[in-house]
Amino acid sequence: MSPKLELLDQQAEKIILESPYRDQWEADYGAFVLKNMEINQKLSDEAILQDLVKESELCQKYSKASATASTIFRGEECNFYGLLKHMQSTDRDERKEAMKAWGDLYEKISGDLDSIYDQMVELRVGIAKKLGFGSYIEFVYLNRGRYDYTAKDVEVFRKQVRDVIVPICSKIRQEQAKRLGVDKLHYYDEPLYFADGNPMPQGNKDTLVKKAQHMYHEISKETGEFFDFMADHELFDLETKPGKRQGGYCTFIEGYNAPFIFSNFNGTSADVDVLTHEAGHAFEVYTAAPAMPIPSMVFPTMEIAEIHSMSMEHFAYPWMKDFFGEKADDYCYAHLAEALVKIPYMVAVDEFQHRVFEKPAMTAKERRNVWHELEKIYLPWRDYDGHPFLEEGGFWMQKQHIFLFPFYYIDYALAQICAIQFYGRAKKDRKKAWADYYRLCQAGGSKGYFDLLKLAELDNPFHEGTVKKTVDGLLEDLFK
Ligand SMILES: [Zn+2]
Repeated sequence: MSPKLELLDQQAEKIILESPYRDQWEADYGAFVLKNMEINQKLSDEAILQDLVKESELCQKYSKASATASTIFRGEECNFYGLLKHMQSTDRDERKEAMKAWGDLYEKISGDLDSIYDQMVELRVGIAKKLGFGSYIEFVYLNRGRYDYTAKDVEVFRKQVRDVIVPICSKIRQEQAKRLGVDKLHYYDEPLYFADGNPMPQGNKDTLVKKAQHMYHEISKETGEFFDFMADHELFDLETKPGKRQGGYCTFIEGYNAPFIFSNFNGTSADVDVLTHEAGHAFEVYTAAPAMPIPSMVFPTMEIAEIHSMSMEHFAYPWMKDFFGEKADDYCYAHLAEALVKIPYMVAVDEFQHRVFEKPAMTAKERRNVWHELEKIYLPWRDYDGHPFLEEGGFWMQKQHIFLFPFYYIDYALAQICAIQFYGRAKKDRKKAWADYYRLCQAGGSKGYFDLLKLAELDNPFHEGTVKKTVDGLLEDLFK
């Protein structure tokens, strides 16, 4: 239904744009809303309606294929999430076995996933063509609200990541290998930061939610009220169940000004990350929605939205002792290291998609070659210990964003650079950092990317030097 509704939206927006009251609209709601409406006129058309329905069906097919895939691991039925949990075991054999089962399971469904992706790429290229765009990349940048920067700017950002962040991550991995006492860090060692185990949150789902509630009451008055609202109205679906869709997200129930959080708790520290990351999104929605006259002004573009969520993860550090007890410092170290180590991976996912849509006729094998090549550049430490499917570049297909949310991934890297700026600011002046963050949440999606960065006094990640300046502030915490 959603493509049909989008068309109706577009028609309504056309009426506003051509109305004699247009200037009044701009005065009341700001220029950005009208700019969005103008660009929307180019992004949808009756001619692509069936294609969008088909795209949505393919997305569901992908979700189903990955959610229902399971295997027997040590006598227990495991989906991908379950296997990832075994990959954090302190027993290296168990980790290795789990990675093998995980890679095998992807290999088993890779034929289906490749075929779904082939159809998606063809369909998406066709959609862009029918709308009169030169390429899908051109279309998707506008579709994601990227008005302030182009694919060329993203290339410059990726270069900063290669030059500044990759070498630091290599050093983090070397130290990790030393801590674990292994000669060579394999992929199945990467998730384990400490030889005696990663910090695990203490307590079940209900306890964790209670602890989060306590934390949000201490962080600020606003966050306390927000979390009470979430808890009182049961706006969570947190626990994993067989056949449940993978991943986690926060969405917005229009008309109730209510955020809603979905996730797959698995007993690891990722559960706490849901209660900080997704709650960061939810806090923004809760804060901005009542003040925004129309729903489309609530969510900003994703480079900003992920600042809300990722910064909340960092703001929550002082309360991690409630969740992890005496392992709180370990958690914070691993979290910070992960924040950095994921950036080159995100950038690789982004470059992969650019490469795919620059040459949409690529075969599945060629796509795997591209991923393998990118791993060598961005993840030079990566080693799958001889697993043939993963070694030849099969790893890309475990990234659901590539299938479901094309080109949505660089946003995380751009946002993390800003979240780290908030982290650095909070170390010096927590009050100011929180005030800047809260101002950003209040502004919702009422302005464009660069304007919102300015509003929160954040350095623009595309400017040469920002990445280095930002990351330099972390080094004292990462290498003590
Ligand atoms: Zn997020």
